[in-house]
Amino acid sequence: MPVAGSRAQGSLDPHKRAKRCAVCRKGPSVCFCGDVRVLQTRSRLPILQHPTEIWRPSATAKIVELALAGSRLFVRGDAEDEAELEGLLEEPGSRPYLVFPDSQAPEPAQMRAAGAWAEGPPPTFLLLDGSWRQARRMRHRRPWLARLPVVALRPSEDSVYRIRRQAHSGNLSTVEAAALLMSQVEERPERFEHLLELLDLMVTRILRLRGLDREGQPIRAAGSE
Ligand SMILES: [Zn+2]
Repeated sequence: MPVAGSRAQGSLDPHKRAKRCAVCRKGPSVCFCGDVRVLQTRSRLPILQHPTEIWRPSATAKIVELALAGSRLFVRGDAEDEAELEGLLEEPGSRPYLVFPDSQAPEPAQMRAAGAWAEGPPPTFLLLDGSWRQARRMRHRRPWLARLPVVALRPSEDSVYRIRRQAHSGNLSTVEAAALLMSQVEERPERFEHLLELLDLMVTRILRLRGLDREGQPIRAAGSE
């Protein structure tokens, strides 16, 4: 059921929302705005975000939007956002793809190696933010999404993301998916390590807030032994 006007609203109460950074939507001790370097890309990377992700402390899509010049967040169920996204994907000359787990779909790296985007306009990759279950539902309910050709990422290692356990091995957080995708299709792939650095910063700060170190072990106060 579409939630009209849900843009940047989500379910966080206004008092708590006021304490969050207006740009990255994290609390002051997690805010990573000062650490972001903006990376230019040829391809575009819109992200359709599930509304429950907007204010979730561990959400990672905002990292992508802030650090990739060609990325932008659109909120699922926001009529204006969805119409704008649909228009962007259907622009004449645009080459849109949906990034989705499909064992039959080609990997972006294979397509690039085969020269898929060597000429003509650069590709646009749509990422679906949220769990894969939510992503499947998002796609199922939108004919304009179901029509898009699919590319699939096949990460070789399990997600390094330590805060939210992924339901299945091999699943990536949105920022990890973006980093892997950009490293497959853009020049100078090593640049996109920056996305993972920002993820690492964010995760480390959240863990510290919870009294845990980078490995998830309780931090002992100095001199407590
Ligand atoms: Zn911030």
